[in-house]
Amino acid sequence: MSINIQKKASSKISNVDFNNLVFGTVFTDYMFECDFVNGAWKQPQIKPYQPLTIEPSARVFHYGQAVFEGMKAFKDDYDQIWMFRPEDNFDRINKSAKRLAMPEFPKEYFFEGLKTLLKLEKDWIKKGIGNTLYIRPFIIATQGAISASPANEYKFMIICSPAQAYYPGEVRVLFAEKYSRSADGGVGFAKAAGNYAAQFYPTVLAQKQGFQQVIWTDAHSHQYLEEAGTMNIFFRINNTLITAPTSDRILDGITRKSVIQLAKDNHINIEVRRVPVKEIKQAAKNGTLKEIFGAGTAAVINPIKGFSHNNEKFELPEIENSYANLFKEKLMNIQYNKAEDIHNWRYKVN
Ligand SMILES: *Cc1c(COP(=O)(O)O)cnc(C)c1O
Repeated sequence: MSINIQKKASSKISNVDFNNLVFGTVFTDYMFECDFVNGAWKQPQIKPYQPLTIEPSARVFHYGQAVFEGMKAFKDDYDQIWMFRPEDNFDRINKSAKRLAMPEFPKEYFFEGLKTLLKLEKDWIKKGIGNTLYIRPFIIATQGAISASPANEYKFMIICSPAQAYYPGEVRVLFAEKYSRSADGGVGFAKAAGNYAAQFYPTVLAQKQGFQQVIWTDAHSHQYLEEAGTMNIFFRINNTLITAPTSDRILDGITRKSVIQLAKDNHINIEVRRVPVKEIKQAAKNGTLKEIFGAGTAAVINPIKGFSHNNEKFELPEIENSYANLFKEKLMNIQYNKAEDIHNWRYKVN
């Protein structure tokens, strides 16, 4: 396999203020692109980051055939570039693609594309804990024809955006009582663009009430807590961590499964089971609920300060030696090559 590379005369990097990055708004010099036509993925290309020309009738615009991934690259103190468990992102984008009747992308193309792109963009990855290059692979249906059936032409792309450490501020959440993001037999487990679109309206309603995010509950009864919709979610009651099992309604997060493994490594009691809303409210009332935090690639670990359900509001106490901090530090030390990596999660790029 060879990648056709179209070089730029000069980089735009000198125009970028790396100390004032707004997440997801600045993109690097290049993008990776590969088209699926006549039943096969064609010659992959890397070209200057630029707008696409797509038919207005492309099915992605009408029927939402779009899946994506979110990954990061890290630079250590020795200028080595690392990724974190990228094989899992590769497996997942193909699982997502399959569920949306889209063609799977070949592994060799994915990793060669990623590595070649990251080597070209190495100056965009800054040293220092918290600095990352956020990587967004995605697949869209490009065939121009608005009949409601799967397309026969697609585009796989990777774009990259430099990011700083993510400080979410104080996050308070609303437990969903009416709306749902996913249902049994649906696409909740897929990183499908439409899952996000479906969350925006209820999330805007929650924001109007002063909550930053919604914690989704099971669509059937709204009695069990599932995930945050961009992050998986953990609850700490006394010294036990609890998180919902993955299913076809819940995205199988890489950060989530890394936290579960780190909990086991550190002899922290972890229960993967259904999480009743009732139990969490009870624990908040009797003081045994110590922490709630989200886990996902973008924020790594995102502590949650409070929650509301059925018009009852709860605040979590300040806590020393939080599990949220412990896991965040452990994960980032592995990601930045500052700690031993007993599970071989790091992936060397250069
Ligand atoms: C991406 C995502 C997550 C987090 O997954 P990571 O692999 O840890 O980044 C959680 N929930 C949803 C719905 C997501 O799309």
